[in-house]
Amino acid sequence: MSLQGKTAVITGSNSGIGLGVARELAKQGAHVVLNSFTDRDEDHALAAEIADTFGVKATYVSADMSKGEDCRRLIADAGACDILINNAGIQHVAPIQDFPTEKWDAIIAINMSSAFHTTAAALPVMRAKGWGRVINIASAHGLTASPYKSAYVAAKHGIVGMTKVVALETAQEPITANAICPGYVLTPLVEKQIPETMKEYGMDRETVVKEVLLQRQPSKEFATTEQLGGTAAFLCSDAAAQITGTTISVDGGWTAL
Ligand code: NAD
Repeated sequence: MSLQGKTAVITGSNSGIGLGVARELAKQGAHVVLNSFTDRDEDHALAAEIADTFGVKATYVSADMSKGEDCRRLIADAGACDILINNAGIQHVAPIQDFPTEKWDAIIAINMSSAFHTTAAALPVMRAKGWGRVINIASAHGLTASPYKSAYVAAKHGIVGMTKVVALETAQEPITANAICPGYVLTPLVEKQIPETMKEYGMDRETVVKEVLLQRQPSKEFATTEQLGGTAAFLCSDAAAQITGTTISVDGGWTAL
């Protein structure tokens, strides 16, 4: 399989799953556009390193996915967008009565509304090229719920719903839209939840990992960023041309329970 000549724009890709997906698509020959809102030297250096390693074009575009106009500018600044990976996301954990409104608004904006704006901007670009892939990184929390994650679960269920709509609107074109639903992956986003959950439940780190995070992941193993990258690459392949409007779980059996 080769993605040579394709350009992939990956939101929130200076760490974790986004970076793993960027690396895998670059390995398959795609040019990649990395994104975050941080605009640090190391963000640009990451793009240079990927270009070097895989012999593709790799650039970094700073854009804040909590702002609709930045989301749309990212697609314009990318210069091309055959593959759109909506990945940027944040988390906050609190009981609903204590959930800060600004955290709710930020999670809905970054984890869900950003995909509305990027997809709206990217579809005309894909249509002009006659090929496209929209891949939304949702979550097992796009299909199930956990306590204390009201905004995250709402945003992830929302993005799964939007994925189906995009698939229907592009059904008769060579464009597909799907959502990948990871279970727990050990990335900075999850690392950050460990101390919060330790406090919430009064547990040590190992107990939180085993009994809270991986409690619902029957494999008892974290999924990896490489596995998520491989799943995204599969959805870009010819074999996946008729896979659209669906979710693929990479969750060690979580949603089979
Ligand atoms: P991460 O914290 O490593 O990465 C999040 C990325 O989003 C970073 O690159 C960060 O720079 C970017 N980001 C955050 N706010 C942004 C903003 N305003 N504008 C632009 N970029 C922004 O976390 P991750 O675990 O790699 O998460 C990536 C995605 O995968 C998220 O949507 C998350 O919900 C989803 N996910 C993660 C897991 C997991 O267990 N790690 C499980 C299911 C789903």
